[in-house]
Amino acid sequence: MKRIGLLGGMSWESTALYYRLLNEGVAARLGGLHSADCVLVSVDFAAIAELQAAGRWDEAGRVLAGEARLLEAAGAEVLLVCSNTMHKVADQVEAAVDIPLLHIADTTATAAEGAGLSRVALLATAYTMEQTFLRDRLTAHGLEVVVPDAAGRALVHRVIYEELCRGVVDDTSRRRVSDVIADLVADGADGVILGCTEIELLIGPDDSPVPVLPTTRIHATAALDVALGHPVSS
Ligand code: GLU
Repeated sequence: MKRIGLLGGMSWESTALYYRLLNEGVAARLGGLHSADCVLVSVDFAAIAELQAAGRWDEAGRVLAGEARLLEAAGAEVLLVCSNTMHKVADQVEAAVDIPLLHIADTTATAAEGAGLSRVALLATAYTMEQTFLRDRLTAHGLEVVVPDAAGRALVHRVIYEELCRGVVDDTSRRRVSDVIADLVADGADGVILGCTEIELLIGPDDSPVPVLPTTRIHATAALDVALGHPVSS
């Protein structure tokens, strides 16, 4: 089993989910007392969120590059940045280490292709929905990507930072985000990327009339495939 390096804390609510999914995945595949061989760096998210809001992405990239080097020094053989948004600086992080970075957009696109989806809605932070770093990587796989209107984007962004990243899972927000999904589906989306690693704490298959693509689960499953060297079994 390869050692998985998790660059987490963005936020820790979703990093905890990564940790659980990796361990449950290894147990399901190998049985017995097997659990994931992983190392985790968990940053103080307030500092990262401040850099995001100030547009100081290079600085955030330097911070994450340093943390990635720590993971490599601790024996990580594959690297996961546990945030869609921070893939904005994936190139900087990747350049800092010799181990492969498993890009969340690639794993998501592969899952979308596998599900036969072609026009996918992207729910994420405003950075991810309004900038091109993740969307371009998804469209490079042949997907058409649509995002909510300005009011929908503001709602999803607010729910992520003010609720989910703080451990708040609210029924009213779930209904509102479901309404955003319904609008996107009425507009022709045949799938919904839960493109923020916290959104799957709020939204599941029952909240959408079309398939959802939970990026944390997909990313973690792809990491297991790499670590264990065999395909997904569940
Ligand atoms: N975890 C989130 C994401 O996947 C948002 C928090 C962050 O900005 O890193 O984009």
